[in-house]
Amino acid sequence: MCSSDLLRLLAATSWSQDPWALGAYSHALPGCAPARQVLAEPVEGRLFFAGEATSTRAFSTAHGAWETGLRAADEVLAALRVAAA
Ligand SMILES: Cc1cc2nc3c(=O)[nH]c(=O)nc-3n(C[C@H](O)[C@H](O)[C@H](O)COP(=O)(O)OP(=O)(O)OC[C@H]3O[C@@H](n4cnc5c(N)ncnc54)[C@H](O)[C@@H]3O)c2cc1C
Repeated sequence: MCSSDLLRLLAATSWSQDPWALGAYSHALPGCAPARQVLAEPVEGRLFFAGEATSTRAFSTAHGAWETGLRAADEVLAALRVAAA
């Protein structure tokens, strides 16, 4: 089940109002973690997605963002090779 019904707010940061942060982490609602894989998938071999939110194992982290950038770059190179063949 993918739902926000299971969440209850206990505390919240003000990072979204901090001009030097402008936000915090992505999060998947309970039961929605598989959506990260969907978010990571290229669209029609022309649009490629990176960023911590597309990481299935290191979301919410800088290294997760970095790894997904490498993955997306590999996807772009593979698509260019197919287009050139
Ligand atoms: C306060 C804080 C502390 C953290 N501490 C740690 C830590 O100790 N260790 C750790 O591993 N991670 C930490 N993180 C998490 C880490 O910073 C993020 O997971 C990581 O930076 C995400 O990288 P990203 O490239 O996916 O997204 P971002 O770094 O958010 O990059 C997204 C970029 O897209 C730009 N953008 C947004 N909308 C548009 C648009 N419409 N058009 C053009 N550009 C757009 C934004 O300006 C931004 O530059 C912390 C995060 C916060 C907020």
